Amino acid sequence: MKIAIIGGGYVGLVSGACFAEFGVTVAVVEAHEAKRAMLLEGRIPIYEPGLDRLVAENAAAGRLTFPATLEEGIAEAEAAFIAVGTPARRGDGHADLTFVFAAVEQVVMALDHPAIIVTKSTVPVGTGRKIAALARRLRPELGIEVAANPEFLREGSAITDFMRPDRVVVGTESERAREVLRRLYRPLYLIEAPIVFTGLETAELTKYAANGFLAMKITFINEIANLCEQVGADVNDVARGIGLDGRIGKKFLHAGPGFGGSCFPKDTLALMRIAEEAGAPSRLIAAVVDVNDERKAAMAARVIAACGGDVRGLRIAVLGLAFKPETDDMREAPSLPLISGLVAAGAAVVAFDPEAMAGAKPLLPEGVEFAPDSGAALYGADALVLVTEWNEFRSLAPARLGQLMRQKIVVDLRNVFDPAAMRAAGFAYHGIGRPAVVAA
Ligand code: NAD
Repeated sequence: MKIAIIGGGYVGLVSGACFAEFGVTVAVVEAHEAKRAMLLEGRIPIYEPGLDRLVAENAAAGRLTFPATLEEGIAEAEAAFIAVGTPARRGDGHADLTFVFAAVEQVVMALDHPAIIVTKSTVPVGTGRKIAALARRLRPELGIEVAANPEFLREGSAITDFMRPDRVVVGTESERAREVLRRLYRPLYLIEAPIVFTGLETAELTKYAANGFLAMKITFINEIANLCEQVGADVNDVARGIGLDGRIGKKFLHAGPGFGGSCFPKDTLALMRIAEEAGAPSRLIAAVVDVNDERKAAMAARVIAACGGDVRGLRIAVLGLAFKPETDDMREAPSLPLISGLVAAGAAVVAFDPEAMAGAKPLLPEGVEFAPDSGAALYGADALVLVTEWNEFRSLAPARLGQLMRQKIVVDLRNVFDPAAMRAAGFAYHGIGRPAVVAA
């Protein structure tokens, strides 16, 4: 079986490598020439654990290729997966479908056989039907059919998520498309991953509903964290207390600086617009968007308050820049407004992230210093702000921090440190939604 994947980013490259690992012959068509050149040299343009090995092995086995042209990529392909970006459109928050329709048009014009066009990108409800209409208009003779197969992988654990998914959702009205996708995902039947077959609109909406719900869960615990701070409760314990209830579940109950990343911010905005236009506005999702935006914007003030209300001339070490650990993705990362706010308030910021510094540099204000490791970032710092909970930061002992830093102030936006240990080491410690520790 042969397929083509259009777009070799986080989703396209991971899906392509994983389908190849299933034994399928996969051509990943990437328009960005520099990215394609890297892939051809065996280098991976993004950081995703395990992806380098998976790509190398499947490329060496001849199952994974990065062709120069779309025509070459889709020759004899039974399905063409669209995995291009769908960013938020400037101004109104709708999903921008420019890349999707450009890719679909290219595929339709290049095809000489009736392949199935499958959207893996997150696309608004109704897109699949528009793609079908476009294909019918441009190439009526081919009988192209469409399916929606939204992707639920998470950056940082993308390969496991793809190989051992909680479920696969396939929306289509075509028996042929159903048969092709069933065959493609056959290895998952063996591990009993449920494959949920639906109509097109249902599959498209399922992806937005999933992300909307998860974003709401994070935002809920963030609001509870604010309340904890006012009443002297500890949000970690509240999260455990509610998360052990099987109806609620423990995941996505980690209070923090607000969600970022390539999906939740744009998908909540798009869901809001989809719901408004459909005449069924979602007040819940609108509130999630507002509360989260306010939260991210308020993080700099939180740090400034922890530093006594004035950060002019202070050296602030920021550990973690990516929107979450195990990725280099900086899209909508909470570190961005935080650092801009600190710099605007007169702080000297020195930042370190194990993977995201190259991507962060062009997005941060002039004057931010980038340290080669966490020790160098902390050396002589007046305050530590932990923004992204990479494992290597979890093991930073308070005694070590005390040796490196000039002043003992820690703002822990991910609650990874133990407040009691911080207290014992003489630190002023400010977590999220837990009582602050005031230096002795
Ligand atoms: P990305 O920006 O990393 O990758 C998109 C790639 O497509 C880019 O490399 C771009 O150069 C390429 N491209 C654009 N137009 C092309 C064309 N016509 N031909 C060939 N290549 C083209 O984006 P991503 O993070 O992989 O997201 C892709 C889609 O998947 C989005 O809709 C996103 O919402 C969805 N999604 C993302 C994730 C995630 O964790 N990143 C998870 C689930 C779903």
